[in-house]
Amino acid sequence: MVDLATQYQAIKSDIDSAIQEVLDSSVFIGGPVVQRFQKSLEAYLSVKHVIPCANGTDALQIAMMALGLKPGDEVITPSFTYIATTEVIALLGLTPVFVDVDPKTFCLDPSKIEAAVTPKTKAIVPVHLYGQASDMDAIMEIARKHRLFVIEDNAQGIGSDYYSKDGETRKLGTIGDIGCTSFFPSKNLGCYGDGGAIFTNNDALAEQLRMVANHGQKVKYRHDVVGCNSRLDAIQAAILNVKLPKLDEYVAARIKVADFYDRVLGASDKIETPYRDGKSKHVFHQYTVQLKGVDRDALQAYLASKEIPSMIYYPAPAHKQGMFKSFNLGDLDLPVTEELTKHVISFPIHTEMTEEQQAFICSEILHFVNAN
Ligand SMILES: *Cc1c(COP(=O)(O)O)cnc(C)c1O
Repeated sequence: MVDLATQYQAIKSDIDSAIQEVLDSSVFIGGPVVQRFQKSLEAYLSVKHVIPCANGTDALQIAMMALGLKPGDEVITPSFTYIATTEVIALLGLTPVFVDVDPKTFCLDPSKIEAAVTPKTKAIVPVHLYGQASDMDAIMEIARKHRLFVIEDNAQGIGSDYYSKDGETRKLGTIGDIGCTSFFPSKNLGCYGDGGAIFTNNDALAEQLRMVANHGQKVKYRHDVVGCNSRLDAIQAAILNVKLPKLDEYVAARIKVADFYDRVLGASDKIETPYRDGKSKHVFHQYTVQLKGVDRDALQAYLASKEIPSMIYYPAPAHKQGMFKSFNLGDLDLPVTEELTKHVISFPIHTEMTEEQQAFICSEILHFVNAN
């Protein structure tokens, strides 16, 4: 699905010397390299505060802890997402309230949010799935009206621009109270291990986020709140310092692949290509289509026989996972989510794809859907 080896070869000398510098300095945790990455990411995102942390799941957890969410508080979130988003809600004893997604964007459907708001609702966690922005204008309006926090799960959307209806262009992840991202190797901005970051424009929240991520301390050995230990290490920061300046180029490469797929696969009426609504720049963490009347398992098996990988993100909705059994969500009705889990399929997309690879993949996909 991705080709991290070829990407590494293209930047090998810069990466190797950046890692070597960390080894020579022997400052492995914190220090100038991590600080430089934090400042560069703040500049890239035009956001006041970036708090680096250990991974994207921690970023979400720290965000919810820093906002002071308490057991019993309700958090509105999609069920059609990677499990991390909803897992941390349950981990903190909060109550996930699953809202259906929009059939075109695959992101939280704002028209269904207000019906889910109760006096216990404290936050909305939109997920910018596959690199497609959620409808942040509408979500922020609902949040303001009901005084809810917004935590953007931007693990798949880093590098995207959101064109707000006030005429401003903002980096995705910097619109809500807090944005969270992951630097897992296969993400759009990936390091070579685990990494994550939290963003906010709110000074008081930034202080709280930093404290929670660092054992609840502001002053060494004084622990004011219950926190956790979540750090981005210097080797990962050094790798990210090399890759961040290339993020826009990487995003452009992904969009080019998506454009090619759209052009070729869009010709089939059995394939619905990803929606692009002009309200944001889709950064294609995944290239995911909906199949119409095509046997998905058979297509996957056929592609596998041609050594073409494909993936189902995600084969089951979060609310049907065993981890939420105690919430008795069995008969929760999320028709769009259910449909998508049955019909979506993702094809390879990455920054080093050749036109030959794209043409080969498309011709095999079309060969199968046209014959079946
Ligand atoms: C990857 C991902 C996460 C978690 O990030 P990790 O760094 O793997 O902990 C959270 N949410 C979404 C939508 C993701 O894709």
